[in-house]
Amino acid sequence: MQVEASFTELGAAPLELRMSRSSPGRYSLHDFAKNVYDVHAFAGDGRELPTTRPDPYGWNVSGHGGSVTVKYKIYGDLVDGTYLAIDTTHAHINMPAAIVWAHGLDDRPATLTFEPPVGTKWQIATQLYPGSTPFEFAAPNLQYLMDSPVEFGPIAMRQFSVGSRTFRFSLHHTGTDAELDAFVKDVEKVVRQEGAIYGEYPDYEPGTYTFIADYLPYAAGDAMEHRNSAVMTTAGSLRGDRLELLDTVAHEFFHGWNVERIRPRSLEPWDFDRANMSGELWLAEGFTQYFGPLVRHRAGLEDLSATSRTVADFVEAVTLGPGRLVRSAEEMSRMAPFTDGGQPVDRTNWPNTMISYYQSGGAIALALDLTLRDRSDGQITLDDYMRAMWRVHGKPGGTREGYVDRPYTAGDAEARLAEVSHDPAFARDFFARYIQGHDVADYTRLLTRAGLILRKRNPGRAWWGDLRLESRGGTARVAALVPANSPAYDAGIEQDDELRVIDGERVGSAGDVAAIVRRHRPGDRVQVTFVDRTGVPKTVSVALAEDPHLEVVPVESAGGRLTPAQKLFRDRWLGSKS
Ligand SMILES: [Zn+2]
Ligand SMILES: [Zn+2]
Repeated sequence: MQVEASFTELGAAPLELRMSRSSPGRYSLHDFAKNVYDVHAFAGDGRELPTTRPDPYGWNVSGHGGSVTVKYKIYGDLVDGTYLAIDTTHAHINMPAAIVWAHGLDDRPATLTFEPPVGTKWQIATQLYPGSTPFEFAAPNLQYLMDSPVEFGPIAMRQFSVGSRTFRFSLHHTGTDAELDAFVKDVEKVVRQEGAIYGEYPDYEPGTYTFIADYLPYAAGDAMEHRNSAVMTTAGSLRGDRLELLDTVAHEFFHGWNVERIRPRSLEPWDFDRANMSGELWLAEGFTQYFGPLVRHRAGLEDLSATSRTVADFVEAVTLGPGRLVRSAEEMSRMAPFTDGGQPVDRTNWPNTMISYYQSGGAIALALDLTLRDRSDGQITLDDYMRAMWRVHGKPGGTREGYVDRPYTAGDAEARLAEVSHDPAFARDFFARYIQGHDVADYTRLLTRAGLILRKRNPGRAWWGDLRLESRGGTARVAALVPANSPAYDAGIEQDDELRVIDGERVGSAGDVAAIVRRHRPGDRVQVTFVDRTGVPKTVSVALAEDPHLEVVPVESAGGRLTPAQKLFRDRWLGSKS
């Protein structure tokens, strides 16, 4: 892609041109400058200006006389929510990955003109403000510009309204129009259910909210929230992956309130030069992760068994994951710059020292929702909490478009809980235990209120740990970190060990190991002979435990009876709100 950017009415200082190192909503650092080449800067009179490189991410231009036009080429071939993808089928543009900007000009409006390749009939989907032609757009300032992805291609666009709000669904895909029409009907159900939680929709600045979807065989599975739009990409299709795609729709649309406007102070405004760290992603991402499946159920798109599995996944993440004892939900949130979009070169012990803030935050949301309902006999809910956060922190908006004037701190989030629950001591205790501390809520009791049974998935089955094994040279090699709090870990088995003999039997694959363990009962001891990474053979004794994995089952599916009180509790929780 050829890019030209002009900066006018500049002061005497050198112009500091930058490629972003971060992208709104993605927390790891990036090197977007790596794909930029053939860079030339020109003064207003057309003469080429020399540039210097202060660091790998920018170009300084001095002696410009008040205006600079910079021209460059950029390469991109990743269809997702963070990068840039240009080929003969489309230009899928995430602004920080594509356009150069300049220090000190954050408040200036920008205008953009897109030029389609000759012979194409491409159209544009974006949250940018429309201009005088279909290819001209505007942004009120740098924050808004960088938050505005663009899909420029052979898109199909559908539109629907709820009240005074207009929602657009743009899709670039290989499916049919009929599939899109049917899908957008389900999208509308999700949009209505989420509107009912907050009681109203945000005031979408350009007048519309736009879903920007690329469901293409060559797209990566990803999604990214923005202020008035969301990008959703997948190699899946409307025909084959409808429920998963709706899951993403529900998650990203919920972000239009939670994180885009109900915004942690730690993320406001976004810093494009460095990593953005927040201790509140358990709420911004985790609560969004909880409401997605809940809304799908309320919209009639998911049945109770599927929702029960989602609930079990949240509970398992915090009950089985040893990381909960090492990092609190706040500390896990602060790991996002290392885990969200980044890939470490070296090995880490994260499986044993952290849980994703999506899952741990979702588990906290589940615990808080059920606890509020339990304490108030269904009168106070997590919907009320989100609405309180919205009224105080989101709805007041910003004096500058794209900004949030009343972002929240962890203390604010606790204060809103004190208000909603009418119990500051409860709010303090909840935050101290589950958000700043390492406790796990009593999910068994809480779920019973809704007629859901939390129980062992495989009672009586022997288990030595969820080890990842790979077959190599006739042995089974431990191919990943051995989970702490497993019998194998306790016995001293480590990553890279090659298992040779278990219980007197030669093992050559993960299947062999599973078969031997399954022959035993919890409490049995088995002898394991392996060769460690230094080549030394060792034999240890492993005390098998009971498989700790959990499941959530509706009481009526487990031979019990759903009481009227349980039915009422469940209906208020999972029933339609719109
Ligand atoms: Zn596309
Ligand atoms: Zn999210």
